[in-house]
Amino acid sequence: MMRMPPFKLHTPKTLNDALNIARELSNEEIEFDWIAGGTDLLPNYKWHLNAKPHVISLSGISELSKLNSNHIGAMVSLHDLAKSKYTHPVLVKAADSIASTLIRRSGTVGGNICLDTRCYWFNQTEQWRESIDWCHKCDCGTEADCRVIPNQNTLCVATYQADLAPVLMCLGATIHLASVNGIRSMPLHNFFELDGMTRNVLQHGELVTHITLPEDVNEWKGDYQKLRQRESWDFPEAGVAALWRMGTKGPTQLRIATTGLESIPGLHLEEANNAISKWNGSNTIDTLADAIRKSVKPVQNTWYSPSYRKKMVKVLTKRACAGLIER
Ligand SMILES: Cc1cc2nc3c(=O)[nH]c(=O)nc-3n(C[C@H](O)[C@H](O)[C@H](O)COP(=O)(O)OP(=O)(O)OC[C@H]3O[C@@H](n4cnc5c(N)ncnc54)[C@H](O)[C@@H]3O)c2cc1C
Ligand code: SF4
Repeated sequence: MMRMPPFKLHTPKTLNDALNIARELSNEEIEFDWIAGGTDLLPNYKWHLNAKPHVISLSGISELSKLNSNHIGAMVSLHDLAKSKYTHPVLVKAADSIASTLIRRSGTVGGNICLDTRCYWFNQTEQWRESIDWCHKCDCGTEADCRVIPNQNTLCVATYQADLAPVLMCLGATIHLASVNGIRSMPLHNFFELDGMTRNVLQHGELVTHITLPEDVNEWKGDYQKLRQRESWDFPEAGVAALWRMGTKGPTQLRIATTGLESIPGLHLEEANNAISKWNGSNTIDTLADAIRKSVKPVQNTWYSPSYRKKMVKVLTKRACAGLIER
């Protein structure tokens, strides 16, 4: 069944209205989802993946679309992010690599950060999933097991396959959230939660309003490298961001982050700090790339095998760090 399940659409014009609708629905114990561009949520609804009876659209809330070098609103489209003169060049590269032109026109920064985790036992039609007796993430009341790590039924290890987060984490991004209870913010790497079902720290009725970047963001150089099946639009099977600040004898600061490998994106602080303290040009990059490879733990739930994705993490890290030894 590929037909969209019925839902009631709410179209608030201000953030306050959106949060109040969320509060009213929560008080009545009615389930709902936020929708931004809908490029992830609506295909999932068509496949009857945890669809809700109410959907609150953020598309009419103009205060969420502000964009400059240090502020990226949740409703900024991926297209506008990639084309803006304010966007850091490595973020432009990552944004431009997401999906296709059409999807980037509708897809948003908030939707990309909050992208549902993916797994080939889950991102399938309802009939397909019924034929394997479902899985834990959408068990249709059957208490079905996880197909990837069976006999546990507490943790979903579906993969986080969005491209912006690793670059934003390396740029030192802070994420800002709002609910009727107030606002709060945190470093982006603290936003994600290991379980592929809960995914992040968002409470019921809470949403992402914007991302901020530090004042020195344009002093950071770097690259983003991505592995995927078809360059035209596929999700990352692995992604590595490397951002650094250069001194006279090499990098003075270095950050590496990965995506497409686990149920959350990873910020590899220890490995990057080790590389800085023992900096010796290309030898250090080899050691660093191997350390990143060892630190990631992909599972068998995307197209490529975990061992291939791990090997490619080393290759992608070396490529992303190539600018560190360019003269
Ligand atoms: C064919 C195809 C290829 C794709 N390829 C890629 C790719 O290469 N790389 C990649 O990163 N992504 C890819 N995507 C995924 C996706 O479309 C984009 O990442 C897009 O950014 C999602 O944004 P959206 O605004 O459409 O999100 P929506 O579909 O509207 O929402 C996605 C999720 O985020 C939640 N959400 C949205 N906004 C907020 C907010 N402000 N606060 C709280 N929760 C929110 C929604 O409730 C939902 O759970 C692909 C999708 C398709 C269909
Ligand atoms: S990791 Fe397990 S529970 Fe999660 S979607 Fe895949 S099979 Fe289902």
